[in-house]
Amino acid sequence: MTITSVEAIPYRLRARRPVRFANGQVDAAVHVLVRVRDSDGVEGVAEASPRPMTYGDTAVSVVHAIEQLIEPAVRGVPAGQIGAAHHRLRHLVHNTTAIAAFDVALWDLKARRLGVPLAEMLGGFATSVRAAHLLSLASPEEMAAEADEVFAATGVTAMKVKVGVDVATDVARTVAVRDALGAGALLYLDANHGWDAPATLIAVRALADKGIRPAWIEEPTPAAHALERRWLVERLDIPIVGDESATSLTTASAELQAGRCQAIAIKAGRTGITDSGRVIGLTEGLGADVVIGSQVEGTLGSIANLHLAAAHEATSRHPAEVTSGRHFETDIVTGAPPVEDGVMSVPTGPGLGVDIDDDALASLRLDT
Ligand code: MG
Repeated sequence: MTITSVEAIPYRLRARRPVRFANGQVDAAVHVLVRVRDSDGVEGVAEASPRPMTYGDTAVSVVHAIEQLIEPAVRGVPAGQIGAAHHRLRHLVHNTTAIAAFDVALWDLKARRLGVPLAEMLGGFATSVRAAHLLSLASPEEMAAEADEVFAATGVTAMKVKVGVDVATDVARTVAVRDALGAGALLYLDANHGWDAPATLIAVRALADKGIRPAWIEEPTPAAHALERRWLVERLDIPIVGDESATSLTTASAELQAGRCQAIAIKAGRTGITDSGRVIGLTEGLGADVVIGSQVEGTLGSIANLHLAAAHEATSRHPAEVTSGRHFETDIVTGAPPVEDGVMSVPTGPGLGVDIDDDALASLRLDT
C-alpha cells in the first residue's frame, strides 16, 4: 500500500458575511481539497485553507505545490510511513498550507486504514472538546449579535474577539460581546498585529475598568516587533499567545525561550498533525501553554482541529476553535457532529470521521 496519487481540487465556499480581522478578510473562500490515495484504494482527505495575508500561499500555489512538487516526491512511499513521506519533502520550503493539508490527509488515510478515529490514534485523551468561536471583526453591535446567534445555536460561551483597529472601539467590541454572553463567558482577544505595546496596555486597563479580563491575547503587535512582545510579557498578567510570530516548531521555540509569549496557537491547517504534535511537545517541555486556533477553515478543516484538540491533554485544557464552518453557507462534507451545550463530540468513525459530499463538491469545485 504505497501512495499512488495526491490530488488537489480547488473549491469555493460562500461566506455568510465577510469574515474580517485586523490584517485582512475572507469573503468567498477558495479552499483546496487534498486527497491522498494508496495502492489499495484507501483515501485520506484534508482541506487547505490558504490565507495569503498571513502565509503567502494561495489556492493556485497550493494546487501547484501538490501537483508539481509534493505528488512526484512522495509517489511510491508506503502510505503508513508518514515520516518517510516528510523526509522526501525536507527540501521544500514555504508552501506551509499545502504541506499541512498533505500531512493531515496522510494521517486521515492511516487512521481509516486502521479503522480508528484520528484523535484516538494520536493519543486519545478526550472524546469531546469544548468549542470556541471566532467572532469576525465588525461593529460592537454586530459582534454582539453574532455572539448571541452562535450561543443560541450551539451553547458556545468561549469566544475569540477579533480586535486590533482602534483601542476605544476594540474595548467597546469586547464589552458588547461580554454583555451579550454574560460574565461567565470565556473571552480572549486577537489583534492580528493591529496594536502596538502601549495600545495593548491601555486596552487591558480599559477592559479591567469594565470588569473584563481576557483569558489571553493573541498577537497584539506586529510579529516582527519582538521587543514589544517581551515588553508586554513583562508588564501584563494576561498571557500573550504567539500565532503569526510562531508558525513553525523553530519560531515557536524561539518565541517561548526568548520570553516573548507564554503560549502558542496551533492549527492543523498550518502545521498539520505531525508538526503540531512537535509544537505541543515543545510547549509541554517548556512548561508553556498551547491553544487550538483557526484560520476560518471550512468544516473539513475544523474537524482536523477537533481531532488534534481531543488527542492531547495539553490541547484539551482550553476551548478549541472548531466552529469555523459556521462562517460559510456552503460545505463539502457530511457527517460533521453538531456543537451542543458548547461541546463538540469527536466523530466515532475511522480517520476524520466525516465524508466528502460528492454532489456538493461537484457544484463548488473550480477546476471543471
Ligand atoms: Mg490569531
